[in-house]
Amino acid sequence: KYHSQLVELKGNIRVLCRLKPVTEVDQREGEVSTAVSTEPGSDSSVTTRYKGKERTFELDKVFLPEATQEEVFLEIEPLVLSCLDGYNVCIFAYGQTGSGKTYTMEGVPEDPGINQRALQALYQEMEARVGLWKYSVTLSMVEIYNEVIRDLLGKEPQEKLDIRLNPDGSGQLHVPGLTSVEVQGLREIRKMLSLGKRNRATYCTNMNEHSSRSHALLTITITGTNCSTGTKTSGKLNLVDLAGSERVWKSGAQGERLKEAQSINKSLLALGEVIQALRARQGHVPFRNSKLTYLLQDSLGKGNKTVMMVQVGTARPGACWGMAALHAGVCSL
Ligand code: ADP
Ligand code: MG
Repeated sequence: KYHSQLVELKGNIRVLCRLKPVTEVDQREGEVSTAVSTEPGSDSSVTTRYKGKERTFELDKVFLPEATQEEVFLEIEPLVLSCLDGYNVCIFAYGQTGSGKTYTMEGVPEDPGINQRALQALYQEMEARVGLWKYSVTLSMVEIYNEVIRDLLGKEPQEKLDIRLNPDGSGQLHVPGLTSVEVQGLREIRKMLSLGKRNRATYCTNMNEHSSRSHALLTITITGTNCSTGTKTSGKLNLVDLAGSERVWKSGAQGERLKEAQSINKSLLALGEVIQALRARQGHVPFRNSKLTYLLQDSLGKGNKTVMMVQVGTARPGACWGMAALHAGVCSL
């Protein structure tokens, strides 16, 4: 039996797994597969069967198909709130298209996901600290498609952005021209989120296809000032709905398609390599190998906190793809 070393390497990077329930659509599309199973009594291991190979993965936590949005959020709430104390936090949803990444991050109107719940929890906590801390919140939203960064809150969402090192020698990165909106409360944030979503939809013909190939990144920056001492903190919450982890190039993609498949995967691959380097505490972390990892350089790594939520669809036809996510993806993380 294969056991990954995920748990031993825990540190500030936590790998969680969420199994998607079998939906009506899944049922219509085919039989329910037995490619994934969990051990009764264990909430941290998953066994997968793929091409005749069986593997058991030890993760930090496995959410069974019946886990609610609230349960998932409660697990990561402390991390989310640590932004108020100056931590940079990244939450990634990783997995095959259709495995529930967007459901976990955005959720559905009647049952919101991590994004909404995180913002709500942050505002609740800021409220509770009124008089002790004064906070200001800014928001930015970008998409990375084909290794091109687009500003989703800008007047020109088509505009391509670059990442630069701050000239002040602080080692901080900045993205010239990136729209960063100061927001006063939840209602304004919700307005921005739907603006970003609308902008994202304006330049693509098929939103489903588009979102499965691009990474969506929402960044909330929170600066706090202590009311009595004047001490300042600054933390960032990065919420990332990653592109589908399916390996398009294996399906015989050519030309533009192949180029696209490779550059979509470039950011996913680079993310895996960065996380691996961080877990192994390597001196050199290859942040600059992709736009996504470069952009998140100051939020990943030392002193920061990361959650990788591996989504796995347990029904066909996504089953083997879900397996691939665990076999190829988590293994390489
Ligand atoms: P992805 O973003 O990974 O492509 P989606 O989040 O769009 O996948 O999920 C695919 C479908 O499955 C959607 O219709 C979504 O509402 C549904 N779904 C995903 N996860 C769950 C869940 N935990 N409970 C109920 N429905 C889910
Ligand atoms: Mg999606």
